[in-house]
Amino acid sequence: MRLGIFGGTFDPVHNVHLFIAQTVAELEDLEKILFVPTDGHHYREKAHAPIEDRCAMVRAAISTNPLFEFDDTELRPDASGYTADLLPALRERRNDASFTFIIGADSLVNSDWIRFDEVLAALDRFVIAPRPGIAHEAVQRAIAAIDAPLRERVRTLNLPEFALSATLVRALLSRGQSVRYLVPDPVWEYIAQHDLYKA
Ligand code: ATP
Repeated sequence: MRLGIFGGTFDPVHNVHLFIAQTVAELEDLEKILFVPTDGHHYREKAHAPIEDRCAMVRAAISTNPLFEFDDTELRPDASGYTADLLPALRERRNDASFTFIIGADSLVNSDWIRFDEVLAALDRFVIAPRPGIAHEAVQRAIAAIDAPLRERVRTLNLPEFALSATLVRALLSRGQSVRYLVPDPVWEYIAQHDLYKA
């Protein structure tokens, strides 16, 4: 099985996450995209909604698309939160799969990657979606710094840039503004029902 792996805090999941996942599946001919929420314990900023709510929203968002699947590997008690540890754990569960890892350009350029060579060595493909505010040159510099054989696994996606982020969704909600049509309807309903992201 040709698997795509899409990790994130999904705080909350929004329409550009889904658009990127769908488009990568089509461009890279993938059979399944795993949405892999992380508790975010290594991130500088703590997540805003509880992990249970973030997972419920991801499940609701992807439920109508048979290409998409929820994966809880990153939520097991011994998960380190590092992609270098996630991939072998996924490999144990999905032995038959080829792995394509999907990230936004900000995650490549702004994150402190731990054991990045191990991450790339565990993958068939590493694909990067462009993101507003992240210069094409910065992405190219990060790619150029990778050793040649592993660099061949890295692809930049020819996609439009969308200035939607979970930060923007939270900011609108904290101001009492609508996020309808920025997030899937079931996520919009879930946020309202559970009073999430209020000021
Ligand atoms: P936040 O605003 O809270 O940082 P986010 O919108 O970046 O959240 P995450 O859950 O952190 O959402 O992102 C999961 C993955 O999706 C990351 O690799 C991120 O770079 C990517 N991503 C999210 N939004 C976009 C976007 N608009 N364009 C490209 N990539 C995106």
